[in-house]
Amino acid sequence: MSAAEHFLVITQIAELRRVIAAARKDGHRIGCVPTMGALHAGHISLFARTRQLADVVVATIFVNPSQFAANEDLSRYPRPLEADLNACREAGVEIVFLPSVESLYPPAFDTWVKVEGLSATLEGEIRPDHFRGVATIVLKLFNIVQPDSACFGQKDFQQQALIRRMVRDLDVPVQIVTCPTIREADGLALSSRNAYLNPAERRAATVLSRGLRLAEVQLRGGNPDVAAVRENVRLLLAAESLVHPDYVAVVDPDSLAPLEQPQSRMAVLLAARVGSTRLIDNCLIDRHSSEPSTLVPGP
Ligand code: AMP
Repeated sequence: MSAAEHFLVITQIAELRRVIAAARKDGHRIGCVPTMGALHAGHISLFARTRQLADVVVATIFVNPSQFAANEDLSRYPRPLEADLNACREAGVEIVFLPSVESLYPPAFDTWVKVEGLSATLEGEIRPDHFRGVATIVLKLFNIVQPDSACFGQKDFQQQALIRRMVRDLDVPVQIVTCPTIREADGLALSSRNAYLNPAERRAATVLSRGLRLAEVQLRGGNPDVAAVRENVRLLLAAESLVHPDYVAVVDPDSLAPLEQPQSRMAVLLAARVGSTRLIDNCLIDRHSSEPSTLVPGP
């Protein structure tokens, strides 16, 4: 199966299983990129990375109701289906899986996956059932697609940590690959939710990546006072009148445990409301690496 020969949009679980079983029988490796659509260059970068690992790239587009709370943006989440399908085709994706809510959540659906500790902090404190929805849908998609590899964005840092833990704990035979965050030229991480920002909010939103940059400079520079670094970032965010920080955290990148002392590898995670839009961003700091900042804008 090659991009030139095939572009399949599949809505039925049984048909997807048939097509993938045939591809696997032909010796093809399967790669999967779960998305909620409204595709941008961040998603496209995951397709490109998956292409390096797999012969058949499966993109899933599903706005998963169970990861939205009642007061969140499920109904207004952007769903530009035609543009998304074109983007997948142009990116060389072979299969787009486009399931219905009813097929993934049949009547009396009653089984949930909860990654206990990792879903209790940070985003999980503010969005209590969010990661239960994420873990459940991702495991369901893995069970349906049965990919050899799956790519996720560092942009959703807690999500990729939790999915890594889930596949390890539940022995799911899939390689999880985390891909760098793709950014606008001014540093704003690409997100489907950026479309909600008005021009003033869009300008103010650059403070998130500037805050991360500040943390990076201070922590790499050897500031031993992690609490002071967090506070400096929080103050920078709060100085923008349209921005209301939810948290600024410096954590261990694997356990997500908060750090009071700097260590060689650290993740800085932050979340803020910009107007009525909630945005998250993060950066990884490796004090022993001379790699350039992860905050430099992507292509
Ligand atoms: P979503 O459609 O928002 O659920 O995201 C689908 C996948 O794309 C997730 O693995 C995200 O982490 C990833 N993603 C979202 N934004 C970016 C970005 N700016 N750069 C890289 N990956 C991203």
